[in-house]
Amino acid sequence: MKVRAQFALVFNLDKCIGCHTCSVTCKNTWTNRRGTEYIWFNNVETKPGIGYPKNWENQDQWHGGWILKNGKLSLKQGGRFWELMTIFANPHLPEILDYYEPFTYDYAHLLNAQLSETAPVARPVSLVSGQVMEKIEWSANWEDQLGGTYQTRSVDYNLRDVPGKDLLGEFEKTFLFYLPRMCNHCLNPACVAACPSGAIYKREEDGIVLIDQDRCRGWRMCISACPYKKVYFNWDSGKSEKCIACYPRVESGLPTICSDTCVGRIRYNGIMLYDADRIAELAGTTEEQDLYEAQMNIFLNPHDPEVIAQARLDDVPDSWIDAAQRSPIYKMAMDWKIALPLHPEFRTLPMVWYIPPLSPMGREISPRNIPSKAEDIIPRLESLRIPIDYLASLFTAGNHKPVIASLKKLIAMRAYQRSLHVQGVPNTE
Ligand code: SF4
Ligand code: SF4
Repeated sequence: MKVRAQFALVFNLDKCIGCHTCSVTCKNTWTNRRGTEYIWFNNVETKPGIGYPKNWENQDQWHGGWILKNGKLSLKQGGRFWELMTIFANPHLPEILDYYEPFTYDYAHLLNAQLSETAPVARPVSLVSGQVMEKIEWSANWEDQLGGTYQTRSVDYNLRDVPGKDLLGEFEKTFLFYLPRMCNHCLNPACVAACPSGAIYKREEDGIVLIDQDRCRGWRMCISACPYKKVYFNWDSGKSEKCIACYPRVESGLPTICSDTCVGRIRYNGIMLYDADRIAELAGTTEEQDLYEAQMNIFLNPHDPEVIAQARLDDVPDSWIDAAQRSPIYKMAMDWKIALPLHPEFRTLPMVWYIPPLSPMGREISPRNIPSKAEDIIPRLESLRIPIDYLASLFTAGNHKPVIASLKKLIAMRAYQRSLHVQGVPNTE
């Protein structure tokens, strides 16, 4: 056993209101410079949807993307040609239009625009040196607040394009929720493994993944390699950049800026202890559905005396052990098992955990019809508007069991809290 400490976060999706405050405060703090206009270290996507960059979950779009080979995530193309291409060029990169092309708004339009009797209907256009390049069909958050169904989630889907008769049939199946995303500061980071310059590193003390700007040579292999597409290229400096987990704040005992300013208070920061020796074993787990369970074995109980003794031997400072014991992350991810990792099948061991969204609840679980007994909960899961299949595809590589276990606890907690109101007991929790 080799004990290491890892900075980690839990996002409670039921509480996210999609206000984008986290993204804006992050941008104002870290990516407000030339070359970073299109870069959002933190972004909030509407799900089901295609996200930012466009269709990031479907890595096939960038010349083949990733597949699982011998239990490991590998480039899809076989053959010498693509191997050489990967070495000499980098064919797996998203393009600027997969993100969006930023523009500077000319505020003079507000004063100079002519009076008009009708609202503008022209689609926005992208201008380069004053020339119309193309009509904009996509931008970050183009699909903000648009509902969809599970089946339509990964195609360029927009409710406006669905003919009316189909829409009526589909409407009851539509749902939406928000998925805030940032770099996961993975335990097994693909970006670090891919960097030919050795510029990306995982900090020994807290596992935060950083890019040494002096060593970065702009190869951008990290961008191709990160399955979450959370490394970006700064066209001005010619270097790659990514979320730094606000390490100057974390080192001073403060939460990340996105967490500090989160309006929904959905973000919990903390420290997890894990066994670094067990990470290699994971590569041998080939069944995708087993991945979630396999990943859970990596984390260590910070209250276990044996773990504490080994952590001290492995030079984990007492302050981190103490932080891990006070951290809500282990409780939510391991003890209560309500927080789940995003796309564990990517095998990078992401360290941002998500409590899956319960709402919008179907009629069967309305505020007036909360199940009072645990056994009443399972049949009612069927009526949840967000399909369990979809949540499992996001958080547990398709394994329904952990998703159902998490939702059951969330329903039970909601039932309990509402019962306090019904009984007239003031709820101050
Ligand atoms: Fe690297 Fe991507 Fe993981 Fe962040 S999310 S540590 S950029 S592989
Ligand atoms: Fe969601 Fe919080 Fe971000 Fe608002 S600030 S979008 S509530 S994560």
